[in-house]
Amino acid sequence: MSSPSPWDINRERMVEEQLIPRGIHDEATLRAMRTVPRHLFVDDAMASAAYGDHPLPIGSGQTISQPYIVALMTQALALKGHERVLEIGTGSGYQAAVLSRICRKVYTIERIDALLVRARKVFDRLHYHNIISRIDDGTAGWPDEAPFDGILVTAGGPKIPEPLIEQLADPGRLVIPVGDQFLQELQLLEKTKGEIKVRTIEYVRFVNLIGTHGWSA
Ligand code: SAM
Repeated sequence: MSSPSPWDINRERMVEEQLIPRGIHDEATLRAMRTVPRHLFVDDAMASAAYGDHPLPIGSGQTISQPYIVALMTQALALKGHERVLEIGTGSGYQAAVLSRICRKVYTIERIDALLVRARKVFDRLHYHNIISRIDDGTAGWPDEAPFDGILVTAGGPKIPEPLIEQLADPGRLVIPVGDQFLQELQLLEKTKGEIKVRTIEYVRFVNLIGTHGWSA
């Protein structure tokens, strides 16, 4: 076996120092966070900071989320492996890549063309072929492919978009930051036997969810 690269060492340190002490315990989530090369999802100039405990800019005024938040949102979906998951806000593609290691298929929507073009190149390079992506307003969901076992929104909106609740399978879990443009509650919505329960799992600060069922541009 070859010895670990500096990237592998940084990634392991990220898991041991940032994720496990903060309560990330789901084995599948930890495995994916240990596997996906986060440094490939940021510009070369920022690669050395990729495993730091913070978000990073990815261009077009957007960000790749802090590793802990990616892990927390992933863990909240409680994936077992058979699921089809919808992500709104592809951004760098990192969150979709993490999801793709622990579910059957990921559908991801981004509204900014340049970001999706770059993310797709990384998916191809890594041979992550179970990620399907498109440019659109993700607040309307992806009706043709619904229902989804899990939905993850990686931008903050004023409320949970109704189309996403409709497109969530039963049982299903939806994770979304909801609040004003400065601070949001990370909400977990669970649909079970027709019943909907929503609880807050963390306080977060995300970029805006812009669209018909989000903020106006
Ligand atoms: N998941 C991303 C990652 O792993 O890098 C982080 C995404 S960034 C915090 C939020 C993204 O949501 C931005 O790229 C932004 O353009 C996108 N976004 C905002 N509103 C959107 C919408 N209505 N539909 C699709 N994407 C949207």
